[in-house]
Amino acid sequence: MSTVLPNTLPVTNPATGENLGAVPVCPADGVPALYARSRTAFAAWRTTPVAERLKYLKRLRETMVAELDDIAGQVAEETGKVAMEAMTTDILPVLEAIRHIERHAEKSLGAQKTTTPLLFIGKTSYVVYKPRGVVLVIAPWNFPLQLPMVPMLNALIAGNTVVLKPSEVTPRVGVVIERLFKASGWPEGVVQVAHGGKDLGAALVDAGPDYIFFTGSARTGQIIQQAAARQLIPTTLELGGKDPMIVFNDAPLDRAVQAAIWGGLMNSGQVCMAVERIYVERSVYDRFVDKLCAEVRNLRQGTDASSDIGSMTFPHQVDIVRRHVSAALAEGAVLQTGRPPEEWRTAPESGLWLEPMVLTNVRQDMAVVQEETFGPVLPVIPFDTEEEAIALANDSEYGLSASVWTAAVGRGRRVASQLVSGNVLVNDVVITIVNHDLPFGGEKSSGLGRYHGPDGMRMFCRQTAVMVDKGKRLREVNWFPYAGKYGLFKTLLESYYSSNRNWPKFLSTYLKLLRHASKPSREEK
Ligand code: NAD
Repeated sequence: MSTVLPNTLPVTNPATGENLGAVPVCPADGVPALYARSRTAFAAWRTTPVAERLKYLKRLRETMVAELDDIAGQVAEETGKVAMEAMTTDILPVLEAIRHIERHAEKSLGAQKTTTPLLFIGKTSYVVYKPRGVVLVIAPWNFPLQLPMVPMLNALIAGNTVVLKPSEVTPRVGVVIERLFKASGWPEGVVQVAHGGKDLGAALVDAGPDYIFFTGSARTGQIIQQAAARQLIPTTLELGGKDPMIVFNDAPLDRAVQAAIWGGLMNSGQVCMAVERIYVERSVYDRFVDKLCAEVRNLRQGTDASSDIGSMTFPHQVDIVRRHVSAALAEGAVLQTGRPPEEWRTAPESGLWLEPMVLTNVRQDMAVVQEETFGPVLPVIPFDTEEEAIALANDSEYGLSASVWTAAVGRGRRVASQLVSGNVLVNDVVITIVNHDLPFGGEKSSGLGRYHGPDGMRMFCRQTAVMVDKGKRLREVNWFPYAGKYGLFKTLLESYYSSNRNWPKFLSTYLKLLRHASKPSREEK
């Protein structure tokens, strides 16, 4: 058990309970100075050309590539996940995000010319994207490298400065992030990391950043959204999930089973996009459950390079999993594989080890089907028709991701289009979050807004719409004086907006209006 020093956060290896030290906390009264440094740095960073900012990203990418083993090791040690997962689910998405930014930043953040309606002949229109200022990123513990760094990098390339508050559960990965930015030479104050718990998070929100990017639970998301609303601070909220997997009887069953175990049990199921509910068409249900249990029993749990599943990360999460599984078993669910809660070895002192579980005889109204479990639990429920499967999948307060399994890709697309979900995969799981060309975000309690995709950098910008006129005409056709113009405008609108557009009438009326507009004012006559 680690000792908590005053003003520090303990760092613990959740797989062993070993004390790994402590990280100093940023006191709430240090927040004004933190923001002042950020705003000072912003003044110079905002005017640094995108091409110049990209050089810092390139150096960061090179630093990360040079330190892959060290970063993976530190992420694995503090989260209890296996190093392979630290590499593929924390580091890889960050490197992919940098590559995406390197490819698209100059175009995405440059002024975008738009068309100008014919009624505004002679003018040009465009949009400019300007950084917002100080972006506050608040992050959770399950992917403590990927989830803070991807929004940070998008905010930074757009010219913002960033204050990151990592999760208090994984502060040492926050230190790794801080060190990576330092090692790649970013200017002073452009990135700052403030360690602390929810009180510090609340103080950072109350101190009025220019944008808040929050990833975490739906409950905290609501609290932050309320605080942000009081100050009219724009936000993006990336919240929880309860992702359904729908398996039809023509599905590639072995692949579906492999996807269920990886999508549901990777990172011990502590994944916002984890497969948390599996609906299987009744005619293949028994076969699917048998194969699923056999494959789950084959998985290796441990910390070495041959292990598939590590430990849980956060003792409180074990309590939630315990509550869901205990309630399900008490209400008649059957544990097909894994241990019942009374046999769990999950003391923080000795490691948070939870064997993966498959549950059958599960009802749709059970907590393990309705609430986010965020643990290595796979409840499997049979269905009879496509309509029923869609209704069961949509019967959730969440809508982050979903998957549909069928050999008939057309049916996959049809079902996908009816799921209320920010992401849907056909014959695949989870992976949309690593495709930075796609927008990522959730529906319902899974979040507000999207990041990644075409607007992934622009979301951190203030947009200014600009129209330019050469300024040669005395006045516009719709300006004062109005005398004699009503009838002309009526004719203009009829000729322009009717379905049979009358070009000659439109042009002659427009010319009359132009002549009108160039007449001197009454007092000048
Ligand atoms: P959490 O909401 O408890 O904490 C997240 C962060 O918010 C932490 O840094 C915490 O210190 C901070 N915080 C807590 N209260 C705060 C307050 N009042 N004001 C400001 N900050 C505050 O979530 P967690 O347990 O760290 O993470 C797990 C949750 O995150 C799960 O629900 C999971 O689904 C969700 N999640 C979502 C995504 C996504 O992309 N949609 C990704 C990963 C995790």
